[in-house]
Amino acid sequence: MNAAPNRPIIIDDTTLRDGEQTAGVAFTLAEKKEIARRLDAIGVGELECGIPAMGREEQASIRALVEMGLSARLITWNRAVVSDIAASLATGVQAVDISLSVSDIHIEHKLGKSRDWVREQLKVALGFAKEHDLYVSVGGEDASRADLDFLVELLAIAEAEGADRFRFCDTLGILDPFATFDKVRYLADRTRLDLEVHTHNDLGMATANAIAGLRAGARFVNTTVNGLGERAGNAALEEVVMALKHACGIDPGIDTRGFVELSRYVGQASSRPVPDWKAVVGEKVFHHESGMHADGVLKNPLNYEGYNPAEVGLERSLILGKHSGRHGLRERLALLGIDAADHNLDSLLSRVRLFSERQKRPLSDADLRHLCRAA
Ligand SMILES: [Zn+2]
Repeated sequence: MNAAPNRPIIIDDTTLRDGEQTAGVAFTLAEKKEIARRLDAIGVGELECGIPAMGREEQASIRALVEMGLSARLITWNRAVVSDIAASLATGVQAVDISLSVSDIHIEHKLGKSRDWVREQLKVALGFAKEHDLYVSVGGEDASRADLDFLVELLAIAEAEGADRFRFCDTLGILDPFATFDKVRYLADRTRLDLEVHTHNDLGMATANAIAGLRAGARFVNTTVNGLGERAGNAALEEVVMALKHACGIDPGIDTRGFVELSRYVGQASSRPVPDWKAVVGEKVFHHESGMHADGVLKNPLNYEGYNPAEVGLERSLILGKHSGRHGLRERLALLGIDAADHNLDSLLSRVRLFSERQKRPLSDADLRHLCRAA
């Protein structure tokens, strides 16, 4: 039984593999190296960095990442076939994810094979990897739809053949956190192998499911920067880390102060800009406008902020707009060196609100100065 709450959680970030697998996303080698360097620098323990079986160019880029000599362990993605693993070996990595479909729907309708074939293929691929002293995560593709007792059987084979961990994949993002918890706990209660969770965001629950899997006993978690990834994406690195810290009281040992910079870099490299309201790293998630909230934040930021914005590299901002109140307006005037006593605050506030409503945007400093002069 592997539930060992005191062992550290390891983040296996797959921005360079599942992230790049996002339809239409392609990183240059320079971008891959820069993303890897940044992830390594903030303390991410493991980077899934590509699929060597894709060909020479991908292999060369993985080799270049290996040659960077990062502290993070590099791991590649492989189908459960010997030629894929041989291609990984040629890149110099020392860890592989060996992925095989484990749900009956995939076994029958994708592979056209049987459970027996899956059992056999696992032994063959794992045997080959272990002969070459690779660290192995056995990846259960579509595990969320698989028969749990078949998974337990595969876990026993994986353990007997020397695997280092098992990746539970909610490949289609169809679980909720309660089902994720139950399934991962079921497996954790029946294996000594470390478990890893790989969750997708099709129902908007990737982060919640990742956290549920960790709380159920998984020790490894897959993330991507900005939640990049197939379809609706994966669990976002920045969300998982901040949720662990602030919702679960677990410090995964990541320097979060560079999250915003990292997020903007990956947003640009992937041509997927980050929405302003994106949890944790969105430009505007620490903007306060409504009178009551701005007033609360001015009295003490902890009134309306779950954590300090500087913790992720953001800044707090008090916005003047349709929902602003007197306290926020007074504060903003003071910042501009305008004496509130020179103005009828109530009438200025109505003009601020009207301006914002008509323009459909908050007021800039220049807008406020202009309104004050006009008064
Ligand atoms: Zn995936």
